[in-house]
Amino acid sequence: MITLFDSIKKQKLPFSPICENQVRIYVCGPTVYDDAHLGHARSSIAFDLWRRLFLFLDFKVIFVKNFTDIDDKIIKKSLQTNTDVETLSKHYIESYLKDMHALGVLRADIEPKATDNLPQICTMIESLLDKGYAYAGEHSDIYLSIAKDSLYGSISQRTESSPAHSRIQNAQDKLEDKDFALWKGYKGKEDIAYDSPFGKGRPGWHIECSAMIEQHLAYKDKDFGIDIHAGGADLIFPHHENEASQTRCATGRELAKYWLHNGFVNINGEKMSKSLGNSFFIKDALKIYDGEILRNYLLGVHYRLALNFNEEDLVQSKKRLDKIYRLKKRVADAPLLDSIHDTPPHALSHLAHLKQLALKSQPHFLQAFLEALSDDYNISKALSIVEEMLSHSNDALTKTPKDESLKVAIRANIACIEFLLGLGVKDAQSYFQLGLSEQAKQEIESKILERQRAKANKDYALADRLRDELKAEGIEIMDTPQGTTWEKV
Ligand SMILES: [Zn+2]
Repeated sequence: MITLFDSIKKQKLPFSPICENQVRIYVCGPTVYDDAHLGHARSSIAFDLWRRLFLFLDFKVIFVKNFTDIDDKIIKKSLQTNTDVETLSKHYIESYLKDMHALGVLRADIEPKATDNLPQICTMIESLLDKGYAYAGEHSDIYLSIAKDSLYGSISQRTESSPAHSRIQNAQDKLEDKDFALWKGYKGKEDIAYDSPFGKGRPGWHIECSAMIEQHLAYKDKDFGIDIHAGGADLIFPHHENEASQTRCATGRELAKYWLHNGFVNINGEKMSKSLGNSFFIKDALKIYDGEILRNYLLGVHYRLALNFNEEDLVQSKKRLDKIYRLKKRVADAPLLDSIHDTPPHALSHLAHLKQLALKSQPHFLQAFLEALSDDYNISKALSIVEEMLSHSNDALTKTPKDESLKVAIRANIACIEFLLGLGVKDAQSYFQLGLSEQAKQEIESKILERQRAKANKDYALADRLRDELKAEGIEIMDTPQGTTWEKV
């Protein structure tokens, strides 16, 4: 059984899908006016992990994450940089996808953009007008009347006017201060506009998500549109409250059965300034740390708790990843299906075989690991179970290094970690050579060849000198029965 913490009921609830064995998840994606920061990374990784768990447990998952490409902030940036909004948002969408790929976050099944869903947005606004929930102000603005939704506030337990509301121009048009804009009439040349049945203008932020969910994900004949709506805790109010209200008023259904929110990333400026400066951008962190090392660090704190980003902790957490790869290297010759290396969802077709292998000789690990993850993603417990498995496996391999079935079982356990956590996904050899350019790698390889020639010629002094030279560069050489390998230490 899976339990998850529902932000509305404020308690852990057993997960019961709307339709058996299916999960429909919507995550609020970024507003694309700047590069993605560590907060985006954390949110993306948190719900990527949930998605992987559902997939692993044989749920049919539809995962949608949008791009908000119509927003005040995009228009502002476009004016500041003298770039048209389309070019600007295209640039930041590509940059976001590149960063997420580096972090091992799987692409969503559907990635809708507000600009591609304007007819659906307009249809929803029309429906809200027809049903009397929305009203037109002056200047072609359209607002949702919060007073008409008796359940407004049920998501956040808040109903006050938020700063996001008060930003809206022509606020005097509103019947009540806390009403929010569904449509913003064109305000002149420092604005952007699209044609609509309500005149030229653009949609408000909140309606974009409601309409995209309706278009791409929602059940039309159930009490709830989708199973899980997720995003950062900062979105609960007003964004999610408003999304829920619009959908409820327009469709008569509740938007989501469960609401999941991830905690913030706090940055302690002084501690962080080590090599990252005060940069909060993923692209800057990726210049120094491999994406998998960042992922490993960011997933180590429970998704609902605040993460105090600290570069020393990041470096320290790499030891966990090193241990996974150290063991993976020891069982690298275990015969296992190549396809098990596929990343989900491509790996799904081999999942049954993988689970069978993992459960056959060492059932305890996978059972305990899944139990921890299924308990509202109890990552600390899950990671301590991984730690135990690594330690037991190393001991067992030392005792019986030639036991092929043991190697297969261990390799299968690691493959489960790869699928579920997205860690350990590289070839072990290349992991221990991370951070070197292709040219540097070639130079090392040619020195190793030179050393082998020296040994063949019994010129041991030269061979030793070459080994020492590499050691001085931080390169450790290992002579094994399969040949010489090397690692960056
Ligand atoms: Zn949203």
